[in-house]
Amino acid sequence: MFNQDIVNNFQNKETPFYYYDLELLKRTLKACADAADKYRFHVHFALKANFNSRVLQTVKDAGLGADCVSGGEVKKAIESGFNAQQVVFAGVGKSDREINYALDQDIFAFNVESIQELEVINELARAKNKIARVAIRINPNVDAHTHHYITTGLDENKFGINSWDLQSVADALKQSTNLSFLGIHFHVGSQILDMNVFKSLCVKVNEMQAWFEERGMPVKVLNVGGGLGVDYHQPDTNPIADFEAYFKIFADFLTVKPHQEVHFELGRALVAQCSSLISRVLYMKHGIKKNFAVLDAGMTELMRPALYQAYHKIENISKLGQPETMAYDVVGPICESSDCFGKDVNLPTTQRGDLIALRTAGAYGEVMASAYNLRPDIKHVYSED
Ligand SMILES: *Cc1c(COP(=O)(O)O)cnc(C)c1O
Repeated sequence: MFNQDIVNNFQNKETPFYYYDLELLKRTLKACADAADKYRFHVHFALKANFNSRVLQTVKDAGLGADCVSGGEVKKAIESGFNAQQVVFAGVGKSDREINYALDQDIFAFNVESIQELEVINELARAKNKIARVAIRINPNVDAHTHHYITTGLDENKFGINSWDLQSVADALKQSTNLSFLGIHFHVGSQILDMNVFKSLCVKVNEMQAWFEERGMPVKVLNVGGGLGVDYHQPDTNPIADFEAYFKIFADFLTVKPHQEVHFELGRALVAQCSSLISRVLYMKHGIKKNFAVLDAGMTELMRPALYQAYHKIENISKLGQPETMAYDVVGPICESSDCFGKDVNLPTTQRGDLIALRTAGAYGEVMASAYNLRPDIKHVYSED
């Protein structure tokens, strides 16, 4: 939540920048760890949501593992001090180079997304005389009821192995000399607030683990992925996701045997609320039907609205406590019509030079920044500095 002290501290800073509330991040990580510890669940942080170095340090210090979706992320996790035994590597298109790097680092597991990938990892591991631990990413055909661009667990999605291919997977695993079968992996989508989705996922996980165990293949790890959503509309009322309710669903509906570990891969729920993109109003434009506030930040700094019509709460923090008087279209400077953060946003009377906060920008914000239009590198301000 912004107060006058924080805003005063922003006055002489060059905009735009990402502001990180590291104290909120720590409280969020602790809330997550406390809720997970109750059931001895293991939590990995999905680096793709945010790989800012200060954020990663904080996450690592809280004891979480790392969930990576590229060789670059595996490297970043290792270099940030994450224990390789807590690093997992997912993704539909792992290159040979990325697989080799991960093998060299002896990461905990590859989450494998196709039969051909199994064969390639086996070959590359054999060439290095290593055994690669693999979990099979299964597409559970569970509808996450979220935006179609962030739904990943349906038959029509590119992710994971479909249930009708499981027999071939089991056969391939049995024939692979350099693979060790660790367990099964799922990830159905993102920004999921309907707990019934996770309930349905549990039912699928139970079916799938039974399938493998019936075939004499013990499932040691049940990795149920991430996807827990956050409150984009009321970041100050709900700054911390409901980890208790989330983990309880899995504790209640997942069948966990004594030899099994349950793993989670949370991204958004851990980091979304701890950051805001702070920008300055460059110009006000008054049209016939519209009032525009043109910011010095655009889709190059925060792409989610342009990419999937995502909502971010917009606040004029130079006018804290003042009543909303008018509706503005809040837009960026980039030469694309989709470079719009919000239409008809009610704000206090806004003028050139005002500071605007785009809230809940800590997940899939900074990491998606681009240099399109030759924009400069993104800047940061941390609450602890
Ligand atoms: C993106 C991703 C996650 C994290 O998703 P959130 O919605 O940010 O929690 C977890 N696992 C995999 C495999 C992913 O691709």
